Amino acid sequence: MRVIKVGGGCLHGRKTIRDIVDLMVSHGQGNVFVVSALHGITDLLLESLEAALADEANIAGIMARLKARHMLIARNLIATKQDLKSYTRELGKSLGKLERLYYGLNFTRAITPRLTDVISSYGERLSAQLLAAILRDRGIRATCRMPHKIGLITDGKYGDATADLAKTSRNFQSHLPPLLGKKKILFLPGFFGTSEEGEITTFGRGGSDYAAAVVAVALDAQRLDIWKDTEGFMSADPRLVPEAQLIPVLSYEEAAELAYFGAKILHPRTVEPARRRNMKIAIKNTLAPDADGSLITSRSPRPKSIIKSVAYDTDIGILKVHASGVGARPGILGEVATCIAGSGINIKSVVTSQTCISLLLTRQDMEPARQALLGIRPRPFRKLDRLEDVALIGIVGDGIHSRDGIAARCFSAVADCRVNVEMISFGPSRAALYFLVKRKDLESGVNAIHSTFFSTPRCSRS
Ligand code: ASP
Ligand code: MG
Repeated sequence: MRVIKVGGGCLHGRKTIRDIVDLMVSHGQGNVFVVSALHGITDLLLESLEAALADEANIAGIMARLKARHMLIARNLIATKQDLKSYTRELGKSLGKLERLYYGLNFTRAITPRLTDVISSYGERLSAQLLAAILRDRGIRATCRMPHKIGLITDGKYGDATADLAKTSRNFQSHLPPLLGKKKILFLPGFFGTSEEGEITTFGRGGSDYAAAVVAVALDAQRLDIWKDTEGFMSADPRLVPEAQLIPVLSYEEAAELAYFGAKILHPRTVEPARRRNMKIAIKNTLAPDADGSLITSRSPRPKSIIKSVAYDTDIGILKVHASGVGARPGILGEVATCIAGSGINIKSVVTSQTCISLLLTRQDMEPARQALLGIRPRPFRKLDRLEDVALIGIVGDGIHSRDGIAARCFSAVADCRVNVEMISFGPSRAALYFLVKRKDLESGVNAIHSTFFSTPRCSRS
């Protein structure tokens, strides 16, 4: 048995959903599907929090939109009257519960993390119910179970929960086997689980990939498949590098690095549970279901050049904390990092020199981080600088740090294109090397490095 994850990008409109349902019938029977919300529904649920808070009268409109989105699909894809009727009833029940939550929010006049999580979990609940109903109408023995009813246990952290694999495995092993079988399909909503106290907690945006990995590990599946409408992991973003190639096999470490920076193929945390149990992850293209895609395993072959991919991230900025003798002064780095972490901001990476601490942050975190640092008394730094027109390039491949000359090849490739490297970070990973360039140099930098490692040298800017 495999666990198959289907993302919101594949659940977009009647035509694509029909294709996915066909694929479930032809390639999915006997397996467990972990599904995302229909495309755009999580955003709608979250945006509606404010609307419901502002005015009770908005709630009816929110519910009508949710109903219309799901009924449009149901009317098109559920053929028999009886099946459509029972689905309509089921949808009505779920929407009734959700509606009460929005009213509760309006009544209590507060958007709490707890309400945000429970409300945003409805996107996945609705899509799992809808897909199960469509497949039943097709004559498939499909069922749907809710994660909180079958014991997908988390640490209870709202908006960023982590699953308890041991407890979840125990619960799943005792609840789910009767629902599994060669000709059956079990649907589970992704994105959330429950704390031991029974609170719905989500895994953060895009967290259905992680949920699917948890389910796969808890059920001891043969493999986790991620269905996407893309080929798989590529040696570079094909929009930037037309000659980019598919990466057939990657290690967990390489996949985690690529997911973290750049490639939006996989939620970065997906690899954590899978790696612990040595569970293979296959990225499968829904547009070419019999193609190989990318496979993530513990051992991946090392190409001669070591490099598997040249990734990049433009959602990045540098906050420079200038102070004299940073390298020799004990405590200053800790003080700066503690202050920023205390404001709930994630530091992506840090590089220090004698006179400066450079903090790598996402763009939206730049200003809040600056404000937080300005609040420290006494001020441990001389000046703060923001660097925003930058992009991060990452070269990823196991063994990158143990092979001589890779960084040198990389830097001479960019230098040949007259691209200046702003900052270098080896990071804690054994599989990646990162450096910053000016935003305007991104495309030529990525192309220069890619062609150095993957084909004959070429400079995109002549
Ligand atoms: N529906 C959630 C989101 O949009 C989770 C997911 O799709 O993975 O973030
Ligand atoms: Mg999604």
